[in-house]
Amino acid sequence: MPHELFGLRLVARRPLTPRVLELRFARVDGHPFDYIPGQFITLHLPGPEGELRRSYSIASSPEEATETGSIAIAVTEVPNGRACRILFGLSAGEVVQASGPFGRFILRDDPGMDYLLVATGTGVSPYRAMLPSLGQRLARSGREIRLLLGVRGPDEVLYGQDFLDLAQALPAFGFTACLSRFLSDPPRSHERKGYVQETLQSLPLDPRRQVVYLCGNPEMIDASLAYLKSLDFALPAIRREKYLSAN
Ligand SMILES: Cc1cc2nc3c(=O)[nH]c(=O)nc-3n(C[C@H](O)[C@H](O)[C@H](O)COP(=O)(O)OP(=O)(O)OC[C@H]3O[C@@H](n4cnc5c(N)ncnc54)[C@H](O)[C@@H]3O)c2cc1C
Repeated sequence: MPHELFGLRLVARRPLTPRVLELRFARVDGHPFDYIPGQFITLHLPGPEGELRRSYSIASSPEEATETGSIAIAVTEVPNGRACRILFGLSAGEVVQASGPFGRFILRDDPGMDYLLVATGTGVSPYRAMLPSLGQRLARSGREIRLLLGVRGPDEVLYGQDFLDLAQALPAFGFTACLSRFLSDPPRSHERKGYVQETLQSLPLDPRRQVVYLCGNPEMIDASLAYLKSLDFALPAIRREKYLSAN
């Protein structure tokens, strides 16, 4: 069944890191955005050989969408990426077609469970959209939520300050940037050297107490999934969103 398309007008763009651009869009029809944090939209872009469909996680919370009348996505620059070329070339005022929201990578009722949220690169966007919901859950219960973000260096920690702010406000929230190439000089307390999977494997994990979310690079997700299964995590407690490239 064809999806209903709607126009999105670019209202702002800002670099988040040297390779990631945040694009902020408003709906052309003026309708409010209706989505659950963790969902994505699909952009329908005009490619040289026909329509390119590319999905992007919504990086802004519904609260922010109501306040600003816009949603944000964070796009990584991929070498020879066809959609990236179009998106990095967009100017304010230009319109793209979109459908959605889609996806089930969302927070659910998991009474008494702690959350471990794991991402590589822009895979952290869904968690940024969840920030107010995470804050509310932490304020209501004795849960712990820990976020691991894997990137190459400190200049690639997108939305890092937002996560550090929550960690400062709520000690039950922890944020670790796992940096595969180099740390800040001097290193900052939330930084660890190495791949995100290595930090994951160094944590005390318990399938009776934790639900794990994995988002971003498919290899990281497959490796983490295999590890968690070896610890007897049940599949419903390992929630995944792979950033695969389409056509
Ligand atoms: C549910 C979902 C959510 C997604 N959310 C986001 C998001 O929030 N932000 C985001 O930036 N992307 C996201 N993606 C990936 C995105 O949809 C595109 O695949 C990506 O932007 C590349 O598209 P492209 O047309 O520019 O590259 P293509 O022209 O399709 O690919 C060009 C070349 O780059 C390689 N390539 C493709 N993607 C990557 C990559 N990530 N890293 C390295 N090489 C790559 C391809 O294998 C190919 O060789 C998501 C994907 C899914 C399925």
